[in-house]
Amino acid sequence: MKDFKKSWAEPYKMKMVELLKVTSRSQRLAQIKKAGYNTFLLPSDFVYIDLLTDSGTGSMSDRQWSAFMLGDEAYAGSKSFERMEASIKEHYGYKYVIPTHQGRGAENLLSQIMIKKGQLVPGNMYFTTTRLHQELAGGIFTDIIIDEAHDPLNEHPFKGNVDLGKVESIIKKHGAKKIAYISIATNVNMAGGQPISMQNLKQLRSLTQKHGIKIIHDMTRVAENAWFIKQREKGYANRSVEEIVKELCSYTDGATMSAKKDALVNIGGFMATNDYDVYEEARNLVVVYEGLHTYGGLAGRDMEAIAVGIKESLDDNHQKARIGQVEYLGNKMIAYGIPIVKPIGGHGIFVDAKAFLPHLSQDQFPAQALAAEFYIDSGVRTMERGVVSAGRKANGENYNPALELVRFTIPRRVYTQAHMDVVAESTAEVFKNRNKIKGLKMIYEPKYLRFFQARFEKIK
Ligand SMILES: *Cc1c(COP(=O)(O)O)cnc(C)c1O
Repeated sequence: MKDFKKSWAEPYKMKMVELLKVTSRSQRLAQIKKAGYNTFLLPSDFVYIDLLTDSGTGSMSDRQWSAFMLGDEAYAGSKSFERMEASIKEHYGYKYVIPTHQGRGAENLLSQIMIKKGQLVPGNMYFTTTRLHQELAGGIFTDIIIDEAHDPLNEHPFKGNVDLGKVESIIKKHGAKKIAYISIATNVNMAGGQPISMQNLKQLRSLTQKHGIKIIHDMTRVAENAWFIKQREKGYANRSVEEIVKELCSYTDGATMSAKKDALVNIGGFMATNDYDVYEEARNLVVVYEGLHTYGGLAGRDMEAIAVGIKESLDDNHQKARIGQVEYLGNKMIAYGIPIVKPIGGHGIFVDAKAFLPHLSQDQFPAQALAAEFYIDSGVRTMERGVVSAGRKANGENYNPALELVRFTIPRRVYTQAHMDVVAESTAEVFKNRNKIKGLKMIYEPKYLRFFQARFEKIK
């Protein structure tokens, strides 16, 4: 790996392009109204630059597409599973692998196996599907992330860190037996794509080992976390992303992965564990929910693409360009005076809707309203990460998170610097007219993961 230049220019070129439709403001106004002011309900045909999510939206490489042709679609004992399993073992170091159709499939299996009713599941900030599976399995999520993570302006370099004091007091108060496991996400999504440091994870490891508590790794964005460790943590500047990822995984006992993010594929995931008993139980359960233990809801070609995608995700130059592009957009927004979560995270820019729309209270869904405004202005699709995403507690109360954010998620290897310019210009335009933006009222609320399908109306 040799640096070609200071710039983050992409280590690839384009071989095929996908044409986009440019829409008019009046078309977009009609579409967002029809979609109940929920960007998840917009038809993608009416979206110009799609920053809804980085999940399954990346571009595959020529190598991944050629691997597709090698897919072994045998129902049982697929060669493609062997290649995916080998890639996971080699790069992440876990002993046993169970394929699943995507991350939440793995979360379902793992939560059912490892959580007993009434047990606590401490985690470094919640993630929507992760916490829901923990709760459906009878677990109770408790937040153990450092307080800095809940403050959008705090520039702590490792806002994904665990507050070890919080873990100690949970153990002291409830006892180790009451804890199912500690759930650790790398590059914490809901905090704004913020990394955990190696030192913090190591310390957590020695604390939990003393009490016989396992650590389960949500490794959806582990390679992006590794890039930040390389940039920010003492002793890691000369280590490769590949080496750092392997070390991170080594301090955990098992993992769930959405391969749709880091691993550069459109669909796929897996559960991994070092514990034979957990593996055996997962092999039983996967057949019920996903498919046989050698395909888990995936086509052979998907597993081939994952095997290659994992390797590509660990290339230093890939991460430099990936995170470089996110930082480019973030710095542009900062220059326009847009309030965003700092430091700039790994997979997107998170606009602070509370600071952007101080005239709206949280029960008027400021982030939801703001995401709709960005779409109306330029056809850029973003999503809400605030009170709608946080959902309700078992007792029916809203979670009311401190962070009320609009997420601009950058798909991997998809958009250009010029697209980022258009996005930043649009946020500046909306910012100029922010005083006129009205809040929303929820008129339909689904029972689970409401942010996906909830509908809203403008408050008059
Ligand atoms: C996307 C995501 C998941 C869930 O994965 P899916 O593939 O969408 O089911 C879990 N955890 C994190 C941190 C994620 O970003």
